[in-house]
Amino acid sequence: MFIKSSGIHISEHKGNKEMSLQNPHVDFLNPEYVYIPLMEQNAPCEPTVKVGDLVKVGQVVANKTGMFGLPIHSSVSGEVISVNQKMWHSCGKMVPNIQIKNDFKETKDESIRPNPVSELTKEQIIEIVKQNGIVGLGGSGFPTYFKYKVKNPMDLVIINAAECEPYITADYTLIKEHVDQLINGIKYIMRAVEAPKAIIAIKEDKKSLIQKMKIALENEPAITVYELKNVYPAGWEKYIVQHITGKNYKSLPSEVGVVLNNAATAIAVCRAVEENMPLIEKMITVTGEGIKNPLNVYVKIGTKMSDIIAKIGGYAENLKEIFFIAGGPMTGKSVFSDEMIVNRCLSSVVVMPKAIREINPACMGCGKCCEACPVFLSPIQIKEAFDANDLESMKALKANLCMACGLCSYVCPSRIELTDVVCKAKAEVLKKR
Ligand code: SF4
Ligand code: SF4
Repeated sequence: MFIKSSGIHISEHKGNKEMSLQNPHVDFLNPEYVYIPLMEQNAPCEPTVKVGDLVKVGQVVANKTGMFGLPIHSSVSGEVISVNQKMWHSCGKMVPNIQIKNDFKETKDESIRPNPVSELTKEQIIEIVKQNGIVGLGGSGFPTYFKYKVKNPMDLVIINAAECEPYITADYTLIKEHVDQLINGIKYIMRAVEAPKAIIAIKEDKKSLIQKMKIALENEPAITVYELKNVYPAGWEKYIVQHITGKNYKSLPSEVGVVLNNAATAIAVCRAVEENMPLIEKMITVTGEGIKNPLNVYVKIGTKMSDIIAKIGGYAENLKEIFFIAGGPMTGKSVFSDEMIVNRCLSSVVVMPKAIREINPACMGCGKCCEACPVFLSPIQIKEAFDANDLESMKALKANLCMACGLCSYVCPSRIELTDVVCKAKAEVLKKR
């Protein structure tokens, strides 16, 4: 499959990344309660604790089931209050959670201790990444260790620092403050997959970050910076691999000798490898016209969104109705409550006044959705096939190739929610296979 290389320029006015960069990020690491979701990537997680148990920071409290199984850790020390508390999840559903009352002592699990980094084999690095629950922090939540289990040595590690969706600046903020950890994380990934070189892909408009990285990499000849065009979806895995290597792949970048990780994931890998620190904290962007002080916030996994919003100053004034997008405005899901929990895959919450997303569902036949689609689909035709329950047409229109970039909905002048429907059509096609 070939991809279009052009993409779409989303202007800073509409992108509005500046909104959450006006102030330095804040830390919010002492919520009274955390809620550890018992679902990840649609897979249920089995709790390993019960009500009344005392847990430590970094202790395993659940295990994700299925072929991509991973441990899940407590982000605070304290007492387990319940193991079936239903709360909103960024997938748009309510899911059970382990509720833990924080004792504010930050008592660490004995497993958190420095590793003999220089002695670790590639197998040991991969196992450390697995046992510390590191997942793709670009939103996928895919278990990172699984990407490193490649049969042959890789040619290249690519670090995706594009963060190309509008509004989101969490990775940008994290990278700027943790350049050394990013570089070390990249070196551990290179060791894990035996790759001789690595490239950090950053959008060309992030001038100060590019400069900072180039200075930090002066004595690291194996790691270089690649400037991506300032278009959407420049952060899409296939787009990046194709632009850097000139190669296309079918399912995984490893088919063309590449392992690709998000930049925040590489920083999490560094902490896991050096300190055995599980993935229990993360930077998220809380922004949008509905927020009084849009910001990046460094939080414990399991923090309730309403607690974070209260911490940073609450909602904007004079708003009648708001709605929440978990994830970016292009690919995120609508969530109807701020009683939503920060999980390992959530990178941002955008709060919008309701009026911005009024919908006129009549198609004008302008063809813009087809022009914009990076994988040459016809979203409006797929929608018609889905509405008619016509599986053969959904297959013929290749709905299964949709990568949920959100561009078709973004460009549609009638504001038809095409992405959601095309994703449902894709699920139908894959289910029948
Ligand atoms: S969401 Fe799917 S159908 Fe819509 S533009 Fe992106 S890839 Fe194409
Ligand atoms: S962009 Fe919207 S209005 Fe234009 S053809 Fe596609 S669905 Fe119809």
